[in-house]
Amino acid sequence: MSHEGIRFVSKEESARAEQAELPHIAMTPEKVRVRLTEGKGLEIDWQDGHRSAWGFAWLRDACPCATCVEERKNEDRKPGQPRPKGAELLPMYKPPARPASAHGVGRYALQFNWEDGHSGGIYSWEYLRRHCQCQECTFAAEETTGAPN
Ligand SMILES: [Zn+2]
Ligand SMILES: [Zn+2]
Repeated sequence: MSHEGIRFVSKEESARAEQAELPHIAMTPEKVRVRLTEGKGLEIDWQDGHRSAWGFAWLRDACPCATCVEERKNEDRKPGQPRPKGAELLPMYKPPARPASAHGVGRYALQFNWEDGHSGGIYSWEYLRRHCQCQECTFAAEETTGAPN
């Protein structure tokens, strides 16, 4: 046994550990489809047989870059949760978020170049899997957090 198994965990880390540990195959994509031309979103088939799909609007509002994470924290929004309507001073029609392109980052993540010029977010497979939007996963997430909606 090595000493690596023993370490002190911060409060945040232990909170994160309460989330179910995901097996490696649950965070390894078998197939990744970015439906750029249809403007539909991202679909991933995972090695454990699970299938996830996210709309581009959700992904844009779940951008994991430091700026967006900070912004959501200040506005008390969850990843993928859009800004409340009327939050802008001059509401203008905004076309739904779409990436101009997408590419893999190493073997662990995906990056989008959004049409609005933003591209700082690195969407790791783990992040995406943890935010799977399928009924089964969103239901499980509500169960564990006890959130009413
Ligand atoms: Zn961002
Ligand atoms: Zn799911």
